[in-house]
Amino acid sequence: MKTKIVWFRNDLRIHDNATLSTAINNSDEIIPLYIFDVRQFQTTHFGFKKTGVVRTQFLLESVQNLQYNLQQLGGNLIVRVGIPEFIIPELCKRYNVTSVYFSKEVTPEEVRVENAVEKELIKLGVNWKEEWTSTLLTKDDLPFSIPKMPDVFTTFRTKVEHNCSYADVVPTPVKINIPKDITVEELPTVERLLHSQNYTIDKRRAIGFKGGETEAIKRLNEYVWERNCLKDYFETRNGLIGEDYSSKFSAWLALGCLSPRLIYKEAKQYEVQRIKNKSTYWLIFELLWRDFFRFSAQKNYTKLFTENGFNDADKAKNEDDFVNLEKWINGVTGVDFVDANMNELRLTGFMSNRGRQITASYLVNDLKVNWLMGAEYFESQLIDYDVCSNYGNWAYIAGVGNDPRPDRYFNIDKQAASYDPQKKYRQLWLS
Ligand SMILES: Cc1cc2nc3c(=O)[nH]c(=O)nc-3n(C[C@H](O)[C@H](O)[C@H](O)COP(=O)(O)OP(=O)(O)OC[C@H]3O[C@@H](n4cnc5c(N)ncnc54)[C@H](O)[C@@H]3O)c2cc1C
Repeated sequence: MKTKIVWFRNDLRIHDNATLSTAINNSDEIIPLYIFDVRQFQTTHFGFKKTGVVRTQFLLESVQNLQYNLQQLGGNLIVRVGIPEFIIPELCKRYNVTSVYFSKEVTPEEVRVENAVEKELIKLGVNWKEEWTSTLLTKDDLPFSIPKMPDVFTTFRTKVEHNCSYADVVPTPVKINIPKDITVEELPTVERLLHSQNYTIDKRRAIGFKGGETEAIKRLNEYVWERNCLKDYFETRNGLIGEDYSSKFSAWLALGCLSPRLIYKEAKQYEVQRIKNKSTYWLIFELLWRDFFRFSAQKNYTKLFTENGFNDADKAKNEDDFVNLEKWINGVTGVDFVDANMNELRLTGFMSNRGRQITASYLVNDLKVNWLMGAEYFESQLIDYDVCSNYGNWAYIAGVGNDPRPDRYFNIDKQAASYDPQKKYRQLWLS
């Protein structure tokens, strides 16, 4: 009897999930497993909850939905709270597991966990298999190796667009066999994971994010087909208010509730059935940014999490300035456009791309605060936190990442005049 563990990480879906499908195809039964790694709910270097309350709630909803979707296929999801390198070997021993399948991550913290798990599996003589599930392109699709990947996005994109094709989505499994005697524990609560009380999200939020693959696919259908927003994406994407100025796919993408390849497939169908224009191209263009940041994070590894970033030479350092950091977080800098954006983030866990660029630039270039403080706050607060996109974008704006221009500066007054000319956004978030 071949029993394999499918260890779900940031791939909380049954559609286009190579890890799940390959495991099913190569085994008699599988044990689907999700572990709330307690280290993800601790306090960060600068004193934030590593996973804030909004993202924790979204994660719980996503895990619950995955469990439900697996149950519909005759399976289930074992949920544990603890440390993967302790829990996985225990389960291997108990169920005579021959192999563990999981999605590969690329950043130091995540890779350390993989390595620790693998070390334990070696002791038990259990195999493992890593799959790549998070990006449009896999590492093997790229026309260059990771150490040789271009550092500038435009070069990366041009090479990729000329040399690569995107793989089809992996079919969704139709049936899952799990061991009969499996124990399924109850899902934890936000209170248990964070040792904190309930919370409310501000009603002014751009969209009512609910975690899980089912909601992700619903949003994809609504945005692309029902509300027909895709045809206008290029023109609306720098907006600030409401559901439809941008796709809002990011939170589901971050946890893998939504596959970027499914988005690509829908966009291509839309081009055939409705319209092909700059907007349909641009959504895929943005997904390539996401891929770029992931591969770049893999290439630059620990450097991405240092103040000097990818630079070898020491750049003039900003301060670990908690006073200005607090003002920025609480939306009391006195600069209304910055404050409005920071209020939205603090009260809802989301902020537009334009807002993120402006507030990040303001912290680094105007308040002269160490960019890692801002990145850590975003990590805690953003519902769509993705380690590669977050730290990659921050390093870019701080001038220590992939930006070929060393002096990227956002003039806040100009930005406010261009993107919020009638002050509607500021009125919404400063009242
Ligand atoms: C300082 C800073 C921090 C950021 N942190 C994150 C983060 O933690 N998680 C995250 O997903 N995005 C992050 N972004 C990128 C971007 O702001 C969000 O992806 C976007 O605002 C999410 O909204 P949307 O899904 O409606 O985007 P859309 O405009 O609809 O874009 C579609 C998708 O393309 C991808 N995308 C778009 N822009 C970028 C970008 N600049 N970098 C990488 N991917 C992009 C996202 O997956 C997004 O869902 C950050 C940007 C900045 C400037």
